[in-house]
Amino acid sequence: MSRWTTHVDPTWFRADPRPADDVGLAVQWLGTAGFRVLSGGHHVWLDPHLSRHSLGELALSKIEPRLDRIQADVDVAHAVAVGHSHFDHALDAPAVARLHGARVYGSSDTLNWCRGYGVPETQLTELHGNGESFGEGPFALRAFKSAHSPLFAGRVPLPGRIDQLLQGPAHYTRWRVGLTFGLHLQCTAGSVYHLGSSNLVEAELAGIQADVLLCCTIGRQSVRDFTRRAVAALRPKVVVPCHWDPFWTPIDGLPRQIPSNDLAGFLREVAACPDAPDVRVVPIRGWVVVRA
Ligand SMILES: [Zn+2]
Repeated sequence: MSRWTTHVDPTWFRADPRPADDVGLAVQWLGTAGFRVLSGGHHVWLDPHLSRHSLGELALSKIEPRLDRIQADVDVAHAVAVGHSHFDHALDAPAVARLHGARVYGSSDTLNWCRGYGVPETQLTELHGNGESFGEGPFALRAFKSAHSPLFAGRVPLPGRIDQLLQGPAHYTRWRVGLTFGLHLQCTAGSVYHLGSSNLVEAELAGIQADVLLCCTIGRQSVRDFTRRAVAALRPKVVVPCHWDPFWTPIDGLPRQIPSNDLAGFLREVAACPDAPDVRVVPIRGWVVVRA
């Protein structure tokens, strides 16, 4: 199978049924780099991206969160954390915050967008990426400096900061990358690390481990040895690949991958790692129960 295929082999999928709310630790993939992390009835959303504007809409019009699509999937939310402020990671965060009164954790870039969307300052917590820890329900939430993959002809797309209030609707190019973080969530049942872009800064991760690695796969070929390094740095037991779907297509469409993503190649790369972790490929909205 060519590495340029959009085909996704349905036999790769191994999802669990939606767990009870009081589960020890579970994650649900929402497409793009979006996840729900659930423990003991507490729902934390990471980079939720449900608006999924089409390429035509992105090219020709201004965008803003689509509340109907967000409400269809985000039923409960206590907090949202955002790894970087590109639109496919940060666009929907303030809408989740306003719909559910959820707290938002993000860079000053992400928070300037949330302010522009009218999220009260009392709901906003700025992340700096220095490993600072925030109590969020049963979780300790920490952010570590990370890096965005240089996937656009060797460059990070939409570089720069959001250093002023950003108000929508706006063209997608207004969501500059800002600071990039890896997000670590620890509870008594286990830990999760969210790598929303295929790059990492190992020096920031000394002493950090995660049972589950939520791993972006698009653009990893632009970073030398990315998969092996990410697994070596975080020593996960389980890897859940993400950001392999065409995030400009409807969430209910047939499962397929971005042509350059090569999910089969990613599975081989993980399998070749020393102490290779289990890989759980799930369809959009699929769950992985880490600890019942
Ligand atoms: Zn990005």
